[in-house]
Amino acid sequence: MQYRKAKDGTDISILAYGCMRFSKSNGKIDLAKAEREVMEAIDLGVNYFDTAYIYSGSEATIGEIFERNHCRDRVYIADKLPHYMIRSRTGLEKTFQEQLRRLRTDYIDFYLMHILTDIATWERLKGLGVEDWIREKKDSGQIRNIGFSYHGNSNMFCRLADAYDWDFCMIQYNYLDEFSQAGRTGLTHAHERGLPVMIMEPLRGGRLVSLLPDSAKRLIAEHERGYSAAEWSFRWLWNQPEVTAVLSGMNSLDMLRENAAIASDARAESFTQEDFAMIESLKTQINRSMKVGCTGCAYCMPCPKGVDIAGTFSAWNMFYSQDKKSARRSYMQCTIFRHDPGSASQCIGCGKCEKHCPQGIEIRKKLKSAAADLETPVYKGGKVLIRLFHLW
Ligand code: SF4
Ligand code: SF4
Repeated sequence: MQYRKAKDGTDISILAYGCMRFSKSNGKIDLAKAEREVMEAIDLGVNYFDTAYIYSGSEATIGEIFERNHCRDRVYIADKLPHYMIRSRTGLEKTFQEQLRRLRTDYIDFYLMHILTDIATWERLKGLGVEDWIREKKDSGQIRNIGFSYHGNSNMFCRLADAYDWDFCMIQYNYLDEFSQAGRTGLTHAHERGLPVMIMEPLRGGRLVSLLPDSAKRLIAEHERGYSAAEWSFRWLWNQPEVTAVLSGMNSLDMLRENAAIASDARAESFTQEDFAMIESLKTQINRSMKVGCTGCAYCMPCPKGVDIAGTFSAWNMFYSQDKKSARRSYMQCTIFRHDPGSASQCIGCGKCEKHCPQGIEIRKKLKSAAADLETPVYKGGKVLIRLFHLW
């Protein structure tokens, strides 16, 4: 295993354990199986475990495993505040204490504002006194590092990174999102600010492995390197020294061992021109299988009506090339789990965006089709409820 530094000099394993996908049996996490996997990961050198309040049963599972195996001092726990459920400073503290209880610990190493989507959301939290609360928690040692996780475009990511003296952050990043989401721009910006960057969705929810188009699978099978699809994705990430750790939701020993072996071997800045060319070829094949050729560059934004054009097209492509459920969830995350919603249906057809699109995309027409696919009654109901209860 290799390690990269956190802000305070702590060594973080470059392969991190995403604890959202433990195997279940009869609707409950299979504790014995999770324990075998987690303990094997620790033996292989993994020391960063990422969970969240809303990952059903996950906090309690790792809490029990770490306590039973007396290994709390060998691991770093990353957990997340469900700030969208918090209405007061009392609520903040109550939720945090509940997390400590579930985790059977008295401190959290890396604590994140979960899905911090925009500045307005951060301002709302500041209004509840979150800055004083963080200071107290850090002074008492109950929180060691404070950060935020983010899904959204690079502009807003950079503004959020600048809005507070964070210790780290977590972004969605993979070779398909190099120029969408926070993207390379966000990664570089965070690195320049001295922020360690944890990576989620390294395989784009399977899009870069099992859900690859056949043409891309052929390229991988025929390549002389002999890397698997996952290996190309992980190596591309670890090639970048700005990446601190890559989360993987590992739920089999085979997957864990394969990922750990790559994490022991992959070096920063080791990619050759041929390796980069291979990644470009894979991207080309994947983009060909997509509904709209949006690169996520965001030149068309901001839209005067707040439509998240790049986010919508990313989710819409996912809708046709991956599973529909994940696409709709991703669309919800990027358009309504935020203070100012950015739904495709908010488009008034002014055409301003189309003048800036280097891909010549008929944005207005495509947004209409995307809205028809993605804005289901559940989505519309969720949007109303979020506004009604001021969830963001
Ligand atoms: S056409 Fe629609 S998406 Fe484009 S800028 Fe105008 S309102 Fe926004
Ligand atoms: S619609 Fe065009 S300008 Fe907008 S993000 Fe996509 S490619 Fe870029």
